[in-house]
Amino acid sequence: MPYPRKHFFLFFQLKVNRKNNTGISVYLHIPFCLKKCNYCDFISFDYSFGDLQKYLLYLKKEIDILFSKFPASRFSLKSLYLGGGTPSLMSAELLSDLVEHLSKYFDFSTLIEFTIEANPETVEFDKFKEFRQFGVNRVSLGAQSFDDELLKLLGRVHDSKKIYKSFEILRKSGFDNINLDLMFSLPEETIEDVMFSLSEAIKLSPEHISFYSLTIERGTKFFKIRDSLGIPQENEQAKHYKMGIKLLEGHGYKQYEISNFSKEGFQSIHNLSYWLSFPYAGFGIAAGSFISRIRRRNVLNLKSYYEKIDSGMLPIGLFEHLTERRQKGEYIMMCLRLKGGCKNSLYYDRFGVFPVTDFGNEISNLSKMKLLKADKEGFSLTSKGLLIANQVMEYFI
Ligand code: SF4
Repeated sequence: MPYPRKHFFLFFQLKVNRKNNTGISVYLHIPFCLKKCNYCDFISFDYSFGDLQKYLLYLKKEIDILFSKFPASRFSLKSLYLGGGTPSLMSAELLSDLVEHLSKYFDFSTLIEFTIEANPETVEFDKFKEFRQFGVNRVSLGAQSFDDELLKLLGRVHDSKKIYKSFEILRKSGFDNINLDLMFSLPEETIEDVMFSLSEAIKLSPEHISFYSLTIERGTKFFKIRDSLGIPQENEQAKHYKMGIKLLEGHGYKQYEISNFSKEGFQSIHNLSYWLSFPYAGFGIAAGSFISRIRRRNVLNLKSYYEKIDSGMLPIGLFEHLTERRQKGEYIMMCLRLKGGCKNSLYYDRFGVFPVTDFGNEISNLSKMKLLKADKEGFSLTSKGLLIANQVMEYFI
């Protein structure tokens, strides 16, 4: 069925401008999936079209409530990210409607990256062709593994055939910037299995690969049976990670963050905004925002989300005004995730002092332990530090 006129209007309005790099990053959380994966601790619920429609209505209301506090303002948009859940369950019409709503408050002419997360079972040619026309220029596809047995064990809806097929459809729909999400150290996974999945991903030649280890989180189906799952030991996991990095870098995927690798020019602009502590605004259940030292996170419960919006309130669950010290510590924690680490000049531009003034002892002690390497430009994790990155980051907060 042809779409109403307004959707064609959007096609012209939302041409993506790749040259500008100003404005804010916006995240929209779409919390519905066809089925809950066994390892998943994200906020996601079973999908029905009616529930999704209702949720999107409230999402738009949340955006209206926030912007009623900034009448007549229009903000430059740098990146837009639709995550979930499975946002690719949205029809082209629903997505277009949402984007049109956002365009009342955000200037899309400055947008450089517009990502939608997708799962292979939801990728259809007509829909993604329209997504592309509405300005979506990046897809993050949840592949997770190319081993059908493991996919089944993870509780994924798709098999490996569906990954190859959906990738082909995405290319045909016009996407030239695709990320594949891949997990390693899955139950009973050997180094050969990890290399197999990674090699299959590389053969598809996506522009970006996220390669991260399975973590067993509380509240998931896997958590209850964690001891019988056969999760590889820590030393095995370290081997999977190191060998994975080697394979990826050998095929032109440069590591730029702990779990992220890209071909030249395809680093994720949206995620870099998080890691470089640029401002971002999140909408939807559980979505977080960070603007001028204020961090907030929306409620985690759908009923509370709807109730707060019905009473004209923002659905905020957590609100923090960071102290300057905390903000600086978090800045370092985030930029240490980057391969290039923390640059003294960027820190100075942000805070008016060099990191050594604020964290001289920490940098010096961690360097002595060979967990950080520092030079006159800045400091970053060593390969030893990379393996225990979270512990190293804790020193700064
Ligand atoms: S598809 Fe993603 S968000 Fe949905 S249940 Fe699986 S892991 Fe969770």
